Amino acid sequence: MFFNHNKNKIITIIIHKNPDGDALGSSLALMIYFRKLNYNVNLISPTNYSEYYSWLPGIKNIIVLSDNNKFFVKKKILDSDYIFLVDLNNFSRIGELKEFIKNSKSKKILIDHHPYPLNFDIMFHDSNAPATSILVFRFISNMNNLSKIDKDIATCLYVGLMTDTGYFRFPSINSETHFIASILMKKGINIYKIYNQLQENYNENKLKLLSIALKNLKIIKKYNIAYTSIRSSDIFYPYQQGDVDGIINYGLSIKNITFSVFFFEEKKNYPIKISFRSKGKLDVNLFARKYFSGGGHKNAAGGIIKKSLSETIKYFLHIIPIFYKNFNF
Ligand code: 5GP
Ligand code: MN
Repeated sequence: MFFNHNKNKIITIIIHKNPDGDALGSSLALMIYFRKLNYNVNLISPTNYSEYYSWLPGIKNIIVLSDNNKFFVKKKILDSDYIFLVDLNNFSRIGELKEFIKNSKSKKILIDHHPYPLNFDIMFHDSNAPATSILVFRFISNMNNLSKIDKDIATCLYVGLMTDTGYFRFPSINSETHFIASILMKKGINIYKIYNQLQENYNENKLKLLSIALKNLKIIKKYNIAYTSIRSSDIFYPYQQGDVDGIINYGLSIKNITFSVFFFEEKKNYPIKISFRSKGKLDVNLFARKYFSGGGHKNAAGGIIKKSLSETIKYFLHIIPIFYKNFNF
């Protein structure tokens, strides 16, 4: 492997904004793995992670970019020999870190499963992989180091697998997914505890927000679309990042619905964050890229728009017939 003989080298791992279970799980697994091999490793996130993940092994080691540590983070990146970009395909996903990375002379390695990635020095990329965690597993396996996967690494990888596959139910999963899950299980992970930490650890405000989203749910029968929204004045406090995760999935649980959309105004006068999910051939990555400066996967994508919530929904209702006419889904 290209860095096997350079153990005094500095590795920096970068993940995307608002990191999800797969970004956190795959990057933490990689961090713990490289530390076991005695590398000097930094793990940097452009924004903070949700409290729901605060129990993940090694998570306190993540350096979260803030106004106070910009120079420190920049120096870490400029001083790196290798930069791993994990679970992201595009500089738009890492905000200000982009400039630091562009100015760094380090070797850049992408480990990702999102379609249409930018090109980096070394590419571990497979858009058919259901999670970046699968690619990290393959990466460690390629180095003939599966024996280095301990319970902590396995837990992190399993969290990535679980969350990006919707708890092993999306069509993206295959026999390799279950094969790898079974190897991870043999490393002694506690699957029920992981599930409990992720899905039975909510605060009641999260469910109250869900109730508002369900009340606001609207159906466009002609196109089999379900959409809903939450505005800042709906939010119960204390609000925590991650409280709206999962809302988007309810639309798709309705019979015949193939396209689910969730509009979220996190704070007054903030841009609207939009989540898209689809079933079958409807490509929401394309939709998010074309109309909402976003991206993602064919069946799960996100985007953002600088409009008010009502203007955003008006815009969405306007573009829908155009999109369906042009793309013939
Ligand atoms: P979510 O709806 O959970 O925020 O995002 C679903 C997927 O869409 C993520 O896994 C990510 O791949 C992608 N995604 C979400 N937001 C954005 C965005 O603003 N830009 C891009 N390029 N992708 C996004
Ligand atoms: Mn992912």
